[in-house]
Amino acid sequence: MNGPFALQMSRSQFAALTAELARRGDGRRESGAFLLSSTNVERPPGHKRTVVGFAFYDDLDPASLTGGITFGAIGYSALSAVCRAQDLCVVADIHTHPGSWVQQSAIDARHPMSAIPGHIAIIAPNYSQGSIRLRDLGLHVFHGDKTWESRYRNEVKEVLHLTGSYPFLRMAISALRSAFRAVHRSIKERGTLDVNARS
Ligand SMILES: [Zn+2]
Repeated sequence: MNGPFALQMSRSQFAALTAELARRGDGRRESGAFLLSSTNVERPPGHKRTVVGFAFYDDLDPASLTGGITFGAIGYSALSAVCRAQDLCVVADIHTHPGSWVQQSAIDARHPMSAIPGHIAIIAPNYSQGSIRLRDLGLHVFHGDKTWESRYRNEVKEVLHLTGSYPFLRMAISALRSAFRAVHRSIKERGTLDVNARS
């Protein structure tokens, strides 16, 4: 899906986001964040909204992680201050559920974190522990008037696009590089030793 609802973020952002949600939830409570996009980017019709940052619920409202999530007025004030100061706007939110269940609860569906049509509510399973893939998420597009359109499994990537290289690939490449450097160093050191031995 392109068009008004589609979002994009880099794979490394997505990996950082899901890891941070896991850390804040500590495997025993739900955690969440707003996904923010820049307001002063001209977006041609049909173009995806780019996620440029996150605002974690417990940074905005320190009392919000109660097992479930109770995000209060203090959090919304902090959120609008952040958005105003940095010319950002909320395009989506993400929160975690225990277990593999990524459908919205009745409370989730009745109380969108932003009531603007086109807002996207994402749910990550297992308190976001372990490696979370796009297909593990539930993605729910708000159409206003208590109406949501839900995407699961292969349909998630039609709305949320990940760009850039896979973080694990980058990690593997950087591990290879340091292995090469270590081999190179040891060859050089041995070379020096050999020269010394001959002199
Ligand atoms: Zn929920």
